[in-house]
Amino acid sequence: MPHTITLICNPANTVLDTSLISDLSDALEREGGQIGRLEWLDGPIAADLECAGLQADMIEDILRDKLGDDPVDVVVHLAGEDRRRKLLVADMDSTIITVECLDELADFAGKKTEVAAITERAMRGELVFEDALRERIALLAGLPESALAGTYAGRVRLMPGARELVRTMAANGAHAVLVSGGFSYFTERVAADAGFHAERANRLIFENGLLKGVAEPILGREAKLAALHEFCAVHGISESQALAIGDGANDLAMIQVAGMGVAFHAKPVVAAAARARIDYGDLTALLYLQGYRGGDFVRD
Ligand SMILES: [Mg+2]
Repeated sequence: MPHTITLICNPANTVLDTSLISDLSDALEREGGQIGRLEWLDGPIAADLECAGLQADMIEDILRDKLGDDPVDVVVHLAGEDRRRKLLVADMDSTIITVECLDELADFAGKKTEVAAITERAMRGELVFEDALRERIALLAGLPESALAGTYAGRVRLMPGARELVRTMAANGAHAVLVSGGFSYFTERVAADAGFHAERANRLIFENGLLKGVAEPILGREAKLAALHEFCAVHGISESQALAIGDGANDLAMIQVAGMGVAFHAKPVVAAAARARIDYGDLTALLYLQGYRGGDFVRD
């Protein structure tokens, strides 16, 4: 079965050029691959290259080996597959925004180091997400509610490409959902800023303006997967038509079930288990994976 290989670079670091693509094609041919058409999606940032005669895993191994430390992402699809997805389910922290909101909130309490260490272990899959969240909130009990606005205004920034990803998919009829183990105060604002249609998150409980706890049940790994199933059902599509993206262990279930599941600048356990990984490109890489060209992007 022939494959289409999408190659994507981050133009801040490198460019795809014909000599690099020629080197990659030679490496595939040496292992028995038959190289077909090269199609630029957005030169010199992204291209599709056809290859027959090799399994997908082998294509990835050969290209990653040849690329070494070159910052180029490689994703292999079946040739002729309809790559455009009708539903986007995205994680928020360290995926759609550049920070972990809870770690930034902790900074207001002078406990960032302590809290960030737990966040890191939870995202690597070393702790149960729900327990790790309760533990971190307990450390921040008494935090003034004003820290939410301070964190949002001072620390929360959209990941490069977030608006283009959400708005371009929406303009082409897809539904976009932000599903976060973080907090509704942030998801509501980030969803509106990036153009998501819906959002799901945990709710913090304040009493007399001071943080008291987090509402149960906590939205964790299983709730993210449940949201994927639910929104597929609502929109009358199958999970194979959905794109799920995230960076942490609590994203892995939805990433593995979605037809296009992408580990984005992800923790090692997530990147290793996902069918597709983006390590270098920004969020517009998710558009190239779907076959969109640079000229198709909806930009602000
Ligand atoms: Mg995350």
